[in-house]
Amino acid sequence: MIPEKIIDTHLHIEAWKNEEYDSFIDCFEGHREQSGLSSFNLCALPTPMRAVCQNMMMAFYKIAHENSFAHGALDHIIWPITENMPEGMDLVTQYKELMEIGFDGIKLIEGKPTALKPLGNNLNHIALDRLYSEMEKDGTHIVFHINDPEEFWDISKVDPEFVKRGWFYGDGTYLTYKEIQEQALTLLKNHPNLKATLAHFFFCGETPELLEEIFEKCPEVCVDLTPGCEMYHSFEAHHDYYKEFFKRHSKRVMLGTDGSFPWQTKGHVWCMDVLYRFIATNDKIMAFDDSILTGIALDGEEKKDILYKNFERRVSPTPKQINKSALKAYIDKYKSLLSDEEWLNIEPLYSKYLK
Ligand SMILES: [Zn+2]
Repeated sequence: MIPEKIIDTHLHIEAWKNEEYDSFIDCFEGHREQSGLSSFNLCALPTPMRAVCQNMMMAFYKIAHENSFAHGALDHIIWPITENMPEGMDLVTQYKELMEIGFDGIKLIEGKPTALKPLGNNLNHIALDRLYSEMEKDGTHIVFHINDPEEFWDISKVDPEFVKRGWFYGDGTYLTYKEIQEQALTLLKNHPNLKATLAHFFFCGETPELLEEIFEKCPEVCVDLTPGCEMYHSFEAHHDYYKEFFKRHSKRVMLGTDGSFPWQTKGHVWCMDVLYRFIATNDKIMAFDDSILTGIALDGEEKKDILYKNFERRVSPTPKQINKSALKAYIDKYKSLLSDEEWLNIEPLYSKYLK
């Protein structure tokens, strides 16, 4: 149990039910309670349900558990990305609908190689660029996944487990690590005030000087420490440097586990405990992939910034309430995009919470 206030800013829901057939809406809360989190932030994804469906699930979750934050996702509908989306379903319209429903921010996975490739390998496509402009203007918080660990491009280094998941990118059909990074830097140059939290430390554990540069130029950019175990190898290998880095940049860092329903609560509690001890103690911790990690023992305001204050400052001290009529209109509008199975699961929630 974590002994002080902490927010997990990066979690997912990947199933309707757990092995005991309990619904996500009833039992994901158990993770929060047993980990001792004051709150958490659910991030919608375009998989395994499509994005509109994930948004509906998370909105219902927020109705049932009002202390939960959630970031909604965009549904691209047509791949590769195009300016000619179906009438009234362009990305900016979708974004505005999500904010009206009461999402606390937006999750973009569009920069992960597996998402970027089918979209056409252009993170700065005009349709996305318009979206960034709107979010930048509104000061909307984004959990933004861009790139992946560099070893995922090298078959001799990537874990076979990840190859099985489709995360080997060295076959020539994906942009390279450097190319994606370049696109991200262009994006940030065009939108220097975007309130983006770059997930997984922007996969820059070995090149933190790049982050220093971004922090300098983009006052609203943060990173999260959601594992990615490779970044923790870097933190350990350059312990003194990183201790100083996190102290100096404590306002630019947030915590997340990447836990997902139906993750075992045990796993979630363990992961949160590792993250907490890394920040708040100088313990030698058995960390991700069983490597040793030495805590950086931040205290006072710097510790609180990372544990929860940065998220509250950047998003809101309390989660937004769901606007039920906006949610109802959203479901009525996008229902036809759902699979039969998705609708079968959404319909009872719709009847329970919106009728
Ligand atoms: Zn994630």
